[in-house]
Amino acid sequence: MTSVAKQMIHEVLPVGWLQCNCSILGDPETREALVLDPGDEVERVLEVLRRHSLSVRAIVSTHAHIDHVGGLQKLQEATGAPVLMHGDDLELYRHLDKQAEWLGVPPPPAARVDQLLREGDTVRWGGYAASVLHTPGHTPGSVSLYLSPHAHRVLPAPGGGVEVADEGKGTLLAGDTLFAGSIGRTDLWGGSLEDILRSIHDKLLVLPDHTLVYPGHGPATTIGEERAGNPFLQRGDSPQRPGRRGQA
Ligand SMILES: [Zn+2]
Ligand SMILES: [Zn+2]
Repeated sequence: MTSVAKQMIHEVLPVGWLQCNCSILGDPETREALVLDPGDEVERVLEVLRRHSLSVRAIVSTHAHIDHVGGLQKLQEATGAPVLMHGDDLELYRHLDKQAEWLGVPPPPAARVDQLLREGDTVRWGGYAASVLHTPGHTPGSVSLYLSPHAHRVLPAPGGGVEVADEGKGTLLAGDTLFAGSIGRTDLWGGSLEDILRSIHDKLLVLPDHTLVYPGHGPATTIGEERAGNPFLQRGDSPQRPGRRGQA
């Protein structure tokens, strides 16, 4: 007997003038959601949540750059959900005013950080769970979230028994660590090219080829495509380094 699981709700909204990809991940059964990187335009995020009748269980920040955290406080206030980020980015988060000044924009209000994320933590909402990968380099506290193909809900099958829904592909929410054809810039505060390359090679490229990757800016990709074709990640002794820098 087979039961067909409803697909996870996943909406990606590019928000703000730097077009940070805010992800809304919802459980179609329990209507619980995780919101990742509400950088701005919180009204649009709330509209998506209302449209799917979702209540927010947790708000995760992949790193504390202003384009990713600008809407944290507003979303926290509107939903009452806890804000989670890695402790190594708290310093950066405390200096939102400096980031704002650097970009010439008014500083957004700061949210209360309710929980610090660490490597290996599990973030849960509805029947879903994502594991936290600490991927420093773009910032010291950058994290990526990985939903394995088996990370989703266990459903009661019709006629009894339990069946694990299998969507077949894992999902990686990569923040500004890995982009389609590029990597995060490392020339801002706390950045390290050595660290970001180590993070990507040791923690991201080890995931299965068909893993869907949703970066913090720009289009989605897969681990296989990036392993094969991302010019920043080719091993060997070629002196050619790609000219284009990553994004903020
Ligand atoms: Zn960014
Ligand atoms: Zn960034």
